[in-house]
Amino acid sequence: MKIMVSACLAGENCKYNGGNNRNEKILSLMEKHEVITVCPEQMGGLPTPRVPSEVKDGVVTARDGRIVDHEFRTGAAKCLEIALREQPDLIVLQSRSPSCGVKERYDGTFTKTIVKGAGVTAQLLMENGFRCVDVEDLEI
Ligand code: SF4
Repeated sequence: MKIMVSACLAGENCKYNGGNNRNEKILSLMEKHEVITVCPEQMGGLPTPRVPSEVKDGVVTARDGRIVDHEFRTGAAKCLEIALREQPDLIVLQSRSPSCGVKERYDGTFTKTIVKGAGVTAQLLMENGFRCVDVEDLEI
């Protein structure tokens, strides 16, 4: 099986704070399957570390007030390009990220308030018919 995953889940230090979200389920998948890693925020041109962002009224905004929607959507489009080329059977993404969250994300107030709705990359991938799952919902 070919699986695309959020790079931070595979242990890459691409998270906003310079760390990662290394996940044992993903590491185990990597032993048995072909895994492609992507970090849409880095691919959109954002540095690491970077100011954290959330989706506010449909626009991705950094905690310092800067609009970073263009960078986030550029990264999402690049991930879609890779998915269209590679045709993964499954895409596993980091839960609640403004890019990667599949079923939930933070609400744009930076108060850890969660709302229903996907991050911009997950949304674009799902709109194009790819099967996406939040890592916390992955059963292996
Ligand atoms: S954009 Fe996605 S892959 Fe990159 S650090 Fe955030 S959650 Fe991980």
